[in-house]
Amino acid sequence: EASLYIVATPIGNLDDITLRAVEILKKVDFIAAEDTRHSQRLMNHLGVTARMMALHEHNERDKSQALIDKIKEGKSIALVSDAGTPLISDPGYFLVKLAREQGVRVVPIPGVSAVVTALSVSGLPSDRFVFEGFLPAKQGGKIKRLEAFLYETRTVIFYESPHRIVDTLEAMDEVYGSERYLVIARELTKTFETIKGDSLGALREWVDGDLNQQKGEFVLLLEGVVESPDVSTIEQDKMLTLLMAEMP
Ligand code: SAM
Repeated sequence: EASLYIVATPIGNLDDITLRAVEILKKVDFIAAEDTRHSQRLMNHLGVTARMMALHEHNERDKSQALIDKIKEGKSIALVSDAGTPLISDPGYFLVKLAREQGVRVVPIPGVSAVVTALSVSGLPSDRFVFEGFLPAKQGGKIKRLEAFLYETRTVIFYESPHRIVDTLEAMDEVYGSERYLVIARELTKTFETIKGDSLGALREWVDGDLNQQKGEFVLLLEGVVESPDVSTIEQDKMLTLLMAEMP
């Protein structure tokens, strides 16, 4: 049956691709890629020759139906992104939603994602976590979004790019205070892989003082707050209202 395969590719080290991913990429009729030139390098490395088509955030809405029509005609398509698992802070959501709505078979070919890779080595609680992806670019919007996690008890995971790492650490310091514990996972699976956990204040000092630590790709993992054993303020308020009603 012709299908849409959602294929995870490496986030750095080219060996981090599954045997099944290679098999599928060699078998499909077309590969839809976020950046065809970027993905062509990986395909050359793997010896994959399928025709490439561009599917990125700017054309996803226009192109998706045409891709689905091809699958309905019996052609199989693999979707890949520049790195890691498609749809995870990457294009593909619209295509997959449309495919499923139209009864086209969507098959996951799982593999790496930076969020899980970082969490697995962070040393932070990993039983419950929140993935927030990229923060808003502007400092005001960023601070507002960060404030939503002020009392979050789960580990909170963010993606960040080199242009914004310094500003984001500053915003986090402002919102959570310099004592809050954070883990920075930089350049995972690559030559300059760095995984460092410390207080926000100490990490800021370290990153601000070393230009090398501002380069590359980042996952930021924020430790959650300890769940308070007290009755919540909401419950206290409720109790107070009840008591007041009873008073003469
Ligand atoms: N689809 C990808 C995934 O499954 O992780 C994420 C794509 S998103 C456009 C790119 C962001 O992912 C980067 O800015 C960074 O936050 C994170 N990322 C990707 N590769 C990474 C790596 N090798 N080390 C650290 N972070 C990485």
